[in-house]
Amino acid sequence: MCCVFSCRHYVSSSVRKTMHRVLKYQWGNPSSGYQKGKAAFQIVEHAREQVAKSIHAHSHEIYFSGCATESNNAVLKTLSNHFYPKKKKIISTPIEHPSVMNTLEFLETQGIIVQYCPVDHFGFVSIKELEKLMDDDTFLICCILANNEIGTIQNIHEISELAKAHSILVMSDCVQAFGKITIDVKEMGVDYATFSAHKLYGPKGIGALYAKISSPLAPFIHGGHQEEGMRAGTESVHNIAGFGKASQEVSKLISYSNEIRRLKEQFIKQLSDVKPDIIINSPSENCLSNTISVTLPNINSRELMMMLDYYGISVSSGSACSTQQNKPSHVLKAIGLSDKAAAETIRISLGKDTKEEDIRYTVRIIEKYLKSNAD
Ligand code: PLP
Repeated sequence: MCCVFSCRHYVSSSVRKTMHRVLKYQWGNPSSGYQKGKAAFQIVEHAREQVAKSIHAHSHEIYFSGCATESNNAVLKTLSNHFYPKKKKIISTPIEHPSVMNTLEFLETQGIIVQYCPVDHFGFVSIKELEKLMDDDTFLICCILANNEIGTIQNIHEISELAKAHSILVMSDCVQAFGKITIDVKEMGVDYATFSAHKLYGPKGIGALYAKISSPLAPFIHGGHQEEGMRAGTESVHNIAGFGKASQEVSKLISYSNEIRRLKEQFIKQLSDVKPDIIINSPSENCLSNTISVTLPNINSRELMMMLDYYGISVSSGSACSTQQNKPSHVLKAIGLSDKAAAETIRISLGKDTKEEDIRYTVRIIEKYLKSNAD
């Protein structure tokens, strides 16, 4: 049994083939005028069209970046620069990814005012509270589409409608949602959206930024003319081609959702049979089909995680991005968990290759751990 629950992080074979072909034959620099360069340029532009199509955008609204963290930094910092000191305020949520949270924290040291809209115990943003926070000083609302720890999907369309009425721009971190639910940036009404290839069986180290035509954007890496002068530096052509290929397969990935959701429900049922007092922190509706955050009262989630890892099952305690830190997850805290409950919580992510036997196997290992813990 290999990597039962982390299979969504591998690179799919079609993406691998595309990247291999580019690395072997299309090694030109897209900025060069000779044939190999022109061919590489075409590959980058083709991938841009593939990514744009998968989110219902125009290709000239897509900028490739090194990762979604870079895209999030780019929007938050260039907009702050653009508006400050005329307007000073950003409204966000307390359940953003660290690539947003820590950037906002930095911006506060530069004079930006950040206000966080409260969320309920499943992480849903309170629209009423959000509207109360909007004022003439606000230039941006930044709200994650689907949370990476609990899977909660926000109604970004509703948020954008309100924001528009107050002439406020909207950005949404769509990293976790991409490849799991349909993303239509026009329907969502956002001005900016950020993406990463590695959440949809693409390569790591390549991200994208959607910026609606005519919305403010300034160069976020200065240098050459690449990416319309916004993100200078020779393009990572093979990674971009891999991202394009991965995004071409988005509809196929989304078609696995029902089966993944069925397996998730099976997991919850089987787990509650062996430990009836579990608490599911993920909402049952408006939630990513593959994500489950579960609290196992009186169980040390780090120890359980290590045991599961020993048996080839990769799960996270809190956010994967914060596993090096022993702090309770800010997301779990924001939805009202105590430090103790947060330390008893694991996050499980199913992938398109997860099978019923993987679910049974995982629950068996958890049961084994519970029994050894009870001795
Ligand atoms: N946003 C969310 C919601 C994420 O889950 C992640 C990474 O897991 C990121 C942003 C950062 O993406 P990247 O690793 O491409 O910088």
